[in-house]
This record gives sequence, structure tokens and C-alpha cells, in this order.
Amino acid sequence: MATIAFIGLGNMGLPMAKNLLAGGHRVIGVDLSPANLAAAQAAGLELAPTAGAAAAEADLVVTMLPAGPHVRAVYGAADGVIAIARPGTLFIDSSTIDVDSARAVIAQAEAAGHMMLDAPVSGGTGGAAAGTLTFMVGGSETAFAKAQPYLALMGKNIVHAGGPGTGQAAKICNNMILGISMIAVSEAFALADKLGLERQKLFDISSTSSGQCWSLTSYCPVPGPVPTSPANRDYQPGFAVDMMLKDLKLAQQAAASAGAATPLGAQAAALYQLFSAAGNGGMDFSAIVKMMQGK
Ligand code: NAD
Repeated sequence: MATIAFIGLGNMGLPMAKNLLAGGHRVIGVDLSPANLAAAQAAGLELAPTAGAAAAEADLVVTMLPAGPHVRAVYGAADGVIAIARPGTLFIDSSTIDVDSARAVIAQAEAAGHMMLDAPVSGGTGGAAAGTLTFMVGGSETAFAKAQPYLALMGKNIVHAGGPGTGQAAKICNNMILGISMIAVSEAFALADKLGLERQKLFDISSTSSGQCWSLTSYCPVPGPVPTSPANRDYQPGFAVDMMLKDLKLAQQAAASAGAATPLGAQAAALYQLFSAAGNGGMDFSAIVKMMQGK
């Protein structure tokens, strides 16, 4: 049994922490929200007042925080995780954050004698509860091997993407493909409507032709062809517009930092920004089809 400090007990963090607890480990939770702390205590977690206090006792620290600045603060503060944890402690950051922050914090942790992985996830709150998340993991082979049994309690597909930051890189590259392809599929359905081509006919043809992609065949943005897609339940998420926008902005930040040309990624970020600003941030990201339909 390991002692695990789990920092960030929100929509994703608490169900992930529960799976570590169910795996037989001692889990000490930390959060800033009294409501989330109460839910964690009710689930059987111990609580600590600060991340440093929890890390002092831990063999493993897992973080599931909103964004890069939160991660930098929790790890890097004078009384933070890096300063307080015992040398050799393993850190896993599963937050979706910018690549530069991930690499900076891992370098800081390694310089202090710790091991650290960036390990963002896909699979949403359903996957977090079921323990079926996909982990995209960046960091050393040694840290990855040590993390495996813990990641396996929270996820099903665990992929070592490469060195530090490559987990975050994989996540934003994948979601940039997704954001762009959803807009492409939405534009095609909007054009088909105007040309008098039935939606089901376009689906039947493109889903077996060169236009085939996940946004069409698994997550079709118009109601009908894929009964399980959010289009059939008034675009309740699913994966919200603002979450897609966050990932597209991270991709743009990374592209600027690395000097990569991503013109369609930039356009997708701008379109999702407009759609969110019109009050649609909480809808499923496939609702962008309404924008293409001029609604
Ligand atoms: P959330 O806002 O529900 O949870 C974040 C938690 O972190 C909150 O409870 C907040 O109080 C806590 N927190 C913030 N600063 C803290 C600090 N300094 N110390 C301790 N706790 C602190 O967010 P979420 O939906 O759980 O997402 C977490 C991360 O996972 C994000 O990076 C998100 O992009 C990513 N993600 C979310 C989903 C999803 O479907 N929700 C899917 C994949 C990835």
C-alpha cells in the first residue's frame, strides 16, 4: 500500500482519487473548495490543509488542476510539493496544461531529486469514474515504469509518448485535429443542406469514403445518423465548447513557442472563441455546426 497525495479534487480528480483508494492505497486529498473537500471526505479520503503537507507523507503525488499557473504554484511554491516531498518521490500531473509549464515543472522536480511525469487524460468524467481513462504520458522510462500500477487503477490505455512534455503535446495535437475536423464536417453538412443533399445520404457516402473521420462517424454534429452523438440530445456535453477552446488555445501557444505553422488550428481557435463568446461555452463542441448553419 502506498500513501498518495491527490491535489485537485474536482470533476475529474475526485473520481480518479476514489479509484486509487479502491485499489487499496491510502489517499490524502487537498483542494481549495470546501464542497469538494466534503465530498472527498465522504468518499473515504483523508484530508490535508495544503499540498505541501500532503506531499510530506506521500510516496506518490498526483495533481489534477485547472491550468499551468495552478500547477506551477502547487509544485513550485516555497512551501509547495517539490520543496516539501521526500527526495525520490514520484509526481504525476494529469492536468491539461501548456507544454512549456509542464517541461519547466518537471525540470524543477528532477533538479530537486524527484521523478515527474506529465500525464494528461482523455475520456472525460465518465472515464474518470469508470477507471477507463486514456493517459498520454511524458517523462523518463524509470518514472513511467514506476507510475504504471497507479495509472492502471485510473485508466485503460496508457501510452508513453516520450520525454517530458510529450504527454501534453500528444493531447493538444490530437484535440487540434478534433477541433478542425469537427468544423470541416459541420461545414460539409451546412453546404449539403443548401445544395439539397439529404444529411443521411451525405453520412452514408462520406462515412465510407475519403471524408471519413471520428467527428463524422462517432460524433456526427447533426441529429440522426449517429444516435449516440450529442446532436440528438440538444448538444448537452459531452466535451464542452470551452474545454475545446482551452485545448485549441494551448495548441496555439505551443505552436507559437515552437515556431510551428498551424493556420487551421488558429482558425479553429478563433471560431470556437466566437461561438463561446455568443453564450455557447457550455454546449457540446459539436454544436459549432449551428454557426456553420448561420443559426
Ligand atoms: P475542476 O475545476 O472540476 O477541478 C479542478 C480542482 O482543482 C477544483 O476542485 C479546484 O478547487 C482545485 N484547485 C485549484 N487550485 C488548487 C490549488 N492551488 N490547490 C488545490 N486544489 C486546487 O476541473 P476538472 O474538470 O476536474 O479538470 C481538471 C483538469 O483536467 C483540467 O486541466 C482539464 O482541462 C482536464 N480535463 C478535464 C476533462 C473533463 O471532462 N472535465 C477531461 C480531460 C481533461
